Amino acid sequence: MGSQEVSTVDWQGKHVTVAGLGVSGIPAARALHERGAHVTVVNDGDDERARAQAAELEALGITVRLGDGATLPPSTELIVTAPGWQPDKPLFLAAAEAGVPVWGDVELAWRLRGDNGRKAAPWLAVTGTNGKTTTVRMLASILEAAGLRTAAVGNIGVSLLDAVLGDTEYDVLAVELSSYQLHWAPSLRAHSAAVLNLAPDHLDWHGSMEAYAADKGRVYEGNTVACVYNVADPATEGLVREADVEEGCRAIGFTLGAPGPSQLGVVDGILVDRAFVANRQKQAQELAEVSDVNPPAPHNIANALAAAALARAFGVEPAAVRDGLRAFRPDAHRIEHVADIGEVAYVDDSKATNTHATEASLAAYDSIVWIAGGLAKGATFDELVTGAAKRLRGVVLMGADRALIHEALTRHAPEVPVVDLERTDTGAMSEAVARAAELARPGDTVLLAPACASMDMFTNYNKRGEAFADAVRARADESA
Ligand code: ADP
Repeated sequence: MGSQEVSTVDWQGKHVTVAGLGVSGIPAARALHERGAHVTVVNDGDDERARAQAAELEALGITVRLGDGATLPPSTELIVTAPGWQPDKPLFLAAAEAGVPVWGDVELAWRLRGDNGRKAAPWLAVTGTNGKTTTVRMLASILEAAGLRTAAVGNIGVSLLDAVLGDTEYDVLAVELSSYQLHWAPSLRAHSAAVLNLAPDHLDWHGSMEAYAADKGRVYEGNTVACVYNVADPATEGLVREADVEEGCRAIGFTLGAPGPSQLGVVDGILVDRAFVANRQKQAQELAEVSDVNPPAPHNIANALAAAALARAFGVEPAAVRDGLRAFRPDAHRIEHVADIGEVAYVDDSKATNTHATEASLAAYDSIVWIAGGLAKGATFDELVTGAAKRLRGVVLMGADRALIHEALTRHAPEVPVVDLERTDTGAMSEAVARAAELARPGDTVLLAPACASMDMFTNYNKRGEAFADAVRARADESA
């Protein structure tokens, strides 16, 4: 059983270069130093914060080189990199030339698991362009409902290395993995994994859609029980077909329609499992009701089915799937219902920072006043607008690239009223909400789903969502 076996590396005296001070670099440097490696940290930046962090590491005996992340320190035997470092950086070109392997934070955590004498918990891994965080949290909630010791870790903001080396012993980990992390994780072998969907994103980093998809597909390598794919997104099934998995590992689809054999799906408002049952040709197992999913928007039901598939692959009982989904609360700014004012619902999906995510949230409502705009990151909006045109009551646009969305609306939905807000000051969001309220009719939803990044006007998508929610609440108070 090669795949789940814990590999041990003798770190004593090994020369390791850690690329990047930061959330993953600092714990990596410390862990390797504690194991007897000669650690050198290299970092592009040389600001005050970096110097303070460097001083702490140097006090332990770790070498830190600030302001030069490009040169490969001589005698380096291994590089451990922050996941965001782009593969075409000179450091990696030099490493390739010298035959030095490069691991990311996930690879390091995978290799070090079990090395502190604790049980090495299996990983249930989730990747995809959108829905990762939601699915991983749903999965952790289901595993908890089943009485398992677990945590949602990885790209979600909880370091895998901390989870793997910490004092808590886990039965299983729910792991969110980004395409960057997967790129740098050659030997990762999850128990089971899901790719939720595949749409163009981060192509500047990966170089091409093919390279992006190939990195996502790595999550299936060496799976032992199930490779979970999205029936509606054939590219994900294609990745399963290409993966080299353990003997007996099954391909399990999830669909919003009625499931075929070896699939999970939906029948008459019920989430059903036709994969992990005794006779999948004839039998289906009820797992939960659609109304148990919070919120029960189509894309979120898909997330719930993916989480359920991974949990069922791990042997979780149907009742725990239902209880875990009921207990799940979505993270902030992800289709978050803020208030109802005069029979109009106000929903914050500030996390919809690309067109694929916005497409999903626009599909969740029948009649929408859509607030959008920001930094387009090279995206085009024709398909998005065409798909949603019939459901748009009106649109309020703001931010740097709003003209791109406006042009698409003119082309494909010329009858939809558009308010174009030029202002970018702190009051801009209040005005956007006020103008949206003017356009809305009873029964409508005012939806912030920008399809763009926020950094032209806000620090991040959280701040944008908060500005929206504040503006909505102020109106709700006025009208109360
Ligand atoms: P990620 O961790 O992949 O960024 P999140 O769970 O944080 O995903 O959701 C980000 C945004 O993507 C949500 O606000 C929602 O608009 C959208 N989204 C969530 N799940 C899906 C899905 N399955 N398909 C398409 N869009 C989705």
